[in-house]
Amino acid sequence: MNFHILTLFPEMVLNGLNTSIIGRAVNAGFLSIEAVNIRDYAFNKHQSVDDYPYGGGAGMLMQAEPVYLAHEAVAEKILARTDTADCREDQESAAAVGAGMATANEGKLSRRIRTVYLSPQGRVFDQKMAEDLAKEDDLILLCGHYEGIDERVLEEIVTDYVSIGDYVLTGGELPAMVMVDAISRLVPGVLHNDVSAEFESFQDNLLEYPQYSRPEEWHGKKVPPVLLSGHHANIEKWRREQSIIRTYERRPDLLDKCELTEKEKKWFREWLEEKNEIH
Ligand code: SAM
Repeated sequence: MNFHILTLFPEMVLNGLNTSIIGRAVNAGFLSIEAVNIRDYAFNKHQSVDDYPYGGGAGMLMQAEPVYLAHEAVAEKILARTDTADCREDQESAAAVGAGMATANEGKLSRRIRTVYLSPQGRVFDQKMAEDLAKEDDLILLCGHYEGIDERVLEEIVTDYVSIGDYVLTGGELPAMVMVDAISRLVPGVLHNDVSAEFESFQDNLLEYPQYSRPEEWHGKKVPPVLLSGHHANIEKWRREQSIIRTYERRPDLLDKCELTEKEKKWFREWLEEKNEIH
């Protein structure tokens, strides 16, 4: 998967993403992360990219043209690469059926590349959105700064408006890094153990069960005996129940969307009665 981050602070995103799991995945070729400096596309000699908003108001606004040119440059590069690959594939299939390649390749240049504008006004990012975006080969992330970006360029290039939460940050760089991290873990090969991306919080609208490592006893607290039993079915059952309890206690809004089996519903009802939470 290839991330292309349009920003005024490329060193911030690159420094933040070149360590640990993501850094290793980049080095191993599972991901590429390119940070494009929007200032390189400024059209005046001072390389300024912001100006006062029409109508007045506090702060400055990023101008349309540098953002547009930076996006164009990235999109052209992506299209050149993917169309070469598509063209090669089409050539092979055309050779196989003895047909011409030009018609098979028609229309691909007009395809829009998924372009996310990080904005507090967007849809709030969640695991489902990360799963959806992880299916893309290329993703452009546009980071705003100051009071945001001239609306006209957003209308032309943005396909998705995404927020990382209901609060306002100074720039889109941290949100872009959050998205790259969450999406990257879902790209095959990034996590060594594919299973660790599967059984985690938000799967089936449940939070993950509690986990323990050595020693078996710490500060007088013992690891739940079932985890030491080696009985896989019992461990799975215990973990599922713990997930349900944890979600009920910490994120009851998720539990409303979770599909429990009849057996689980019965068990949960009994657990609630035992806890005196149902009267
Ligand atoms: N004036 C804008 C508003 O009220 O909607 C806020 C601009 S904010 C100070 C500057 C930039 O930070 C935005 O253009 C956006 O890229 C980024 N940003 C701020 N908060 C964000 C959030 N919660 N999620 C994603 N991006 C955010």
